[in-house]
Amino acid sequence: MRVGSGFDAHQLVAGRPLRLGGVDVPFDRGLEGHSDGDVLLHAVASALLGATGDGDLGRHFPSSDATPEGIDSRAILDQVAARVREAGWALVNLDATIIAQGPRLAPYTAAMVQVIADSLGVQTAQVNVKVTSTDHLGAIGRGEGMAAQAIVLLEQRP
Ligand SMILES: [Zn+2]
Repeated sequence: MRVGSGFDAHQLVAGRPLRLGGVDVPFDRGLEGHSDGDVLLHAVASALLGATGDGDLGRHFPSSDATPEGIDSRAILDQVAARVREAGWALVNLDATIIAQGPRLAPYTAAMVQVIADSLGVQTAQVNVKVTSTDHLGAIGRGEGMAAQAIVLLEQRP
């Protein structure tokens, strides 16, 4: 068994769509980033890399010409999932938390779980996505950005 944790945060800015967990969420601002800024998928991918001892997202997907600008983070997670499989690991379960003051994200978490499960090739029952706010504390509480954290448990495939 191997465990891994991931954390990510991005700034919220006007003029960008908000994409979380591969789902487009209607909002007046979106997450800044070289990619689509999807904090949830980045935290999940980071946790997977952590569990397999495979470095970090910055090493595999640098914010440079090596990574296409605006890349859909589902493509990043797909590639990380392939690395995990090739290294002989399978997901036991994954738990992730989005930390955001708004908008209301609960209606979208089931779709996010589906995206993650599809990307990893696992059942939706193995994936949990929760949402919390910081109760208006700090930068996230002021709506300046969003963060996500994830923890994964992997087992060696027989
Ligand atoms: Zn990120």
